[in-house]
Amino acid sequence: MAIHETPVSSPGTIQDGLSAEQFFQSVTGFTYDDFILLPGHIDFSADDVALDTQLTRNLSIKTPLVSSPMDTVTEAKMAISMALMGGIGIIHYNNSIEEQRDEVRKVKRYKNGFITDPLTLSPEHRIRDIDELKANYGFSGIPITEDGQMGSKLLGIVTSRDIDFIRDRDVPLSEIMTTDLVVAHEPCTLEEANQILKDSKKGKLPIVDKDNRVVALISRNDLKKNRDFPFASKDDNKQLLAGAAIGTRESDRERLEALNEAGVDVVIIDSSQGDSTYQIEMIQHIKRQFPTIQIIAGNIVTATQAQHLIDAGADALRVGMGVGSICTTQEVMAVGRPQATAVYKTARYAQAHGVPIIADGGVSSIGHIIKALSLGASCVMMGSMLAGTEEAPGEYFYKDGIRLKKYRGMGSIEAMSKGSATRYFSDSDRVRVAQGVSGAVVDKGSILRYTHYLIQGIKHGFQDLGARSVPALHKNLYENRLLFERRTAAAQAEGGVHSLHSYEKSMI
Ligand code: GDP
Ligand code: 5GP
Repeated sequence: MAIHETPVSSPGTIQDGLSAEQFFQSVTGFTYDDFILLPGHIDFSADDVALDTQLTRNLSIKTPLVSSPMDTVTEAKMAISMALMGGIGIIHYNNSIEEQRDEVRKVKRYKNGFITDPLTLSPEHRIRDIDELKANYGFSGIPITEDGQMGSKLLGIVTSRDIDFIRDRDVPLSEIMTTDLVVAHEPCTLEEANQILKDSKKGKLPIVDKDNRVVALISRNDLKKNRDFPFASKDDNKQLLAGAAIGTRESDRERLEALNEAGVDVVIIDSSQGDSTYQIEMIQHIKRQFPTIQIIAGNIVTATQAQHLIDAGADALRVGMGVGSICTTQEVMAVGRPQATAVYKTARYAQAHGVPIIADGGVSSIGHIIKALSLGASCVMMGSMLAGTEEAPGEYFYKDGIRLKKYRGMGSIEAMSKGSATRYFSDSDRVRVAQGVSGAVVDKGSILRYTHYLIQGIKHGFQDLGARSVPALHKNLYENRLLFERRTAAAQAEGGVHSLHSYEKSMI
């Protein structure tokens, strides 16, 4: 083993563990499971740990968690929930420019407690159209507008009480809709809207603008569910932060314009090998045309790659190559790097330039998140960890009695045939070599509950390390107070569950 074996001297004569600098001098590349962190001194409770961190040079968030721009992970629903919990979601771009723009818009327009894109119908629609919406979406309280679209004049509302006992489902909604409406006028706070709902004893409250056009809807049932999100990631206008991925093609410049129009705060330039002229030109283009949009460049795994992208103007770097759970890049291309070494080496270089690192891929436990942050990452990006939640795109299905959701690599043949080929191939490539697979992950319930569980776990890990915050952890790392030790295969087996006949692993 080529690790530098000189132990770090602690105060007194105790010699124990290696600093990161010593540990990563090895010619061997390490990943998260290859090492363990030695405990620090605890003089605070886990609740005292603050997880505030830098996402980019200019954007800070309160939870170091980012959802990956993949079409089975992040669309508006995921991005909204991630931002509510203090992290951020990056909307994928395996879709049309308009579709991606609309997803970003949904995030930017989100108002807690308000349904800002309610389904609406026109007076000419029939009761059976409501039946269909009820079957597909589960609700039947539908505002009726002049042309059936959101943003058009409100004429009435139809709820289940209006249609329950009508046999003929072909009756037009104009004949049965309630036109004597209780509405709230914009601008209106959630508290004001809730008070009107309570006083009027109605089930639905449409919010209209000065011209009586529908801008939102509030449901009585949501009143009870409403909760506060004190750590939500927001911009100066109190709108949720939204991120989106783009490529480096000419057409991506058009995409960027649409995203900017929708109010995107940060873009990720999505490439499996980010150290390219194309990416550098794209960074320079964004800085020239849209100086307020923050840029996360990548992916990279070496300090030299980091240097090129930082020199070009990147505001953060995304680190990881070939380590994702669905990824076959290292196998197919023979290029990449074990993730712990990649994070440490790039973070060490980037921190000297004030550029945060996002550790992307290969995270399958809370321990991995804590290790990534301990190696200098400011945030962690996840795909497989989040793909099984309710907020991820796609429907659940059952296999062998287990509830699953589809999760696929963006370089899988399946995703590429839907359009994501540009991340992995040039236009001239005729034969596509997949760099990812398509699979399934287990149901994890709501992301709101799941991220809460992750956050609590991370705080306990920080407490064990004796670090109250991400900057404090990084200070310990770079001042050689954070101690590392290599784990043998036997030590890894010992660190997992072992010697039992059987056991159940319950997450929460
Ligand atoms: P309904 O009375 O049948 O409309 O259903 P509920 O009010 O009991 O439940 C509707 C649930 O769906 C609430 O939690 C709403 O926030 C949610 N929802 C999401 N989008 C929409 C929408 O476009 N229209 C309506 N009516 N509800 C929506
Ligand atoms: P996970 O959290 O599932 O371990 O990894 C997610 C990360 O894998 C993504 O954020 C992205 O960087 C990377 N990724 C997504 N799809 C593919 C793919 O098809 N091939 C490769 N090489 N990487 C992928």
